[in-house]
Amino acid sequence: MNEYDSNRILDFTKNINYLATSKIEEADCFLLNTCHIREKATDKVYHEVGRVKKKFRDKKKPIVLITGCVAQAEGNILLQKENYIDAVIGPQSYHEINKIILSLENKKSKINSTDFDVIEKFDYLNLVKNSNSKISTFLTIQEGCDKFCKFCVVPYTRGPEHSRSLEEIMTEARQLVKNGSREIILLGQNVNAYNFKNNNLSDLIYSLSEINDLKRIRYTTSHPIDFTDELIEVHGKCKKLMPLLHLPVQSGSSKILKRMNRKHSIKEYMKLIQKLKEKNQSIKFSSDFIIAYPGETKDDFEKTLSLLKKVEFINSFSFIYSPRPGTPAAKFDKIDNTIAKKRLIIFQKNADIIKKNYRNSLVDTISKVLFENKVNNENKFFGRDEYFNSVIVYSDEDLTGKIKKVTIKECNQNTLFGEITLENQKEDCAA
Ligand code: SAH
Ligand code: SF4
Repeated sequence: MNEYDSNRILDFTKNINYLATSKIEEADCFLLNTCHIREKATDKVYHEVGRVKKKFRDKKKPIVLITGCVAQAEGNILLQKENYIDAVIGPQSYHEINKIILSLENKKSKINSTDFDVIEKFDYLNLVKNSNSKISTFLTIQEGCDKFCKFCVVPYTRGPEHSRSLEEIMTEARQLVKNGSREIILLGQNVNAYNFKNNNLSDLIYSLSEINDLKRIRYTTSHPIDFTDELIEVHGKCKKLMPLLHLPVQSGSSKILKRMNRKHSIKEYMKLIQKLKEKNQSIKFSSDFIIAYPGETKDDFEKTLSLLKKVEFINSFSFIYSPRPGTPAAKFDKIDNTIAKKRLIIFQKNADIIKKNYRNSLVDTISKVLFENKVNNENKFFGRDEYFNSVIVYSDEDLTGKIKKVTIKECNQNTLFGEITLENQKEDCAA
């Protein structure tokens, strides 16, 4: 979501002639869009600002802005502790950015803009065209969270759940496709909680699938308790909806899920997986895991390992539990760090084996790849298959924006290497 927000911020600042630059030394304004989900986020801000300070020691000071969730959570503390920072702007206030920059150009007073006005933000966003033209691009449809998992800062930094109107989203999606995008990844902290005037995520997916040049749709991140029967059904019906679902489970132990306030058990999670598989036999899953959450015993951890193996997640993102100030779990007794690290290593080894086996099984099979860009200046193209795996092929023809059938020849941990199959017709194969 920060990537989407950063692009939208640039869409705004363009209007006052503040454009992106790849040369830091030349910048008039330095903006750090931050994430607060795990610890050290605030330390990283001070560190980054320190680097900028050093770079600009003998030059005119740039305007320094901190945006995103660290700005929201820390607010005035950042301004007080680091005089080099000129303004903090929360994730629901970035539509104020031009006003803030222009005011900082003129006077010295610091600015704290951390109100929670999501509706006003989207009203402003709708007025500014999304200029992103990446083949695969993000589109925020929902923000915020009302779930209050005990470990998580999101409800406090992004605010309560809010869904954009279907019409607004469709307009932005059509714009993105007109710009050249062929895949849209719908975003939300609880994307499947999307609901606007009785239109839910499945309605939105069906509407989007009618945009001709839009070839692929994905959504992230969904919460297991927000799956309606209609949404499960879409996975069998809508060919443009890709068959990889990111479905964070956090732990394989129902006892720990309860302590986390996740609001579902492992039995319910497995039932959901089963239902999705019944609708779409080729569906696969990825997930997030929190290792060594307070109270996690060896037995609970074993349950997480066994869930990992049972579902065969093709991608697993795992983190040691990180206490976040102000969240209920921060008061719980922490698990010893050595034990936590050991468990993380064991978990990641197991997850890597599953991923490796899965990737090896793809060698000599055919994947449908949507190509996104040329790699360096060689005749190599980068794309993604239906399961979001990175694929690279050689081609003399410009493949950007096309979907081709590719025979996978080799793989490593991060990339699949393939050849365009002879089967490809003149036209792109269907999504
Ligand atoms: N809304 C999504 C997740 C958003 S946060 C969901 O409910 O699934 C993204 C991921 O960060 C989470 O899935 C979780 O695995 C991780 N995370 C969040 N808070 C954390 C914490 N305090 N410590 C470690 N990992 C955390
Ligand atoms: Fe955080 Fe996701 Fe839980 Fe909301 S549902 S509190 S975003 S982990």
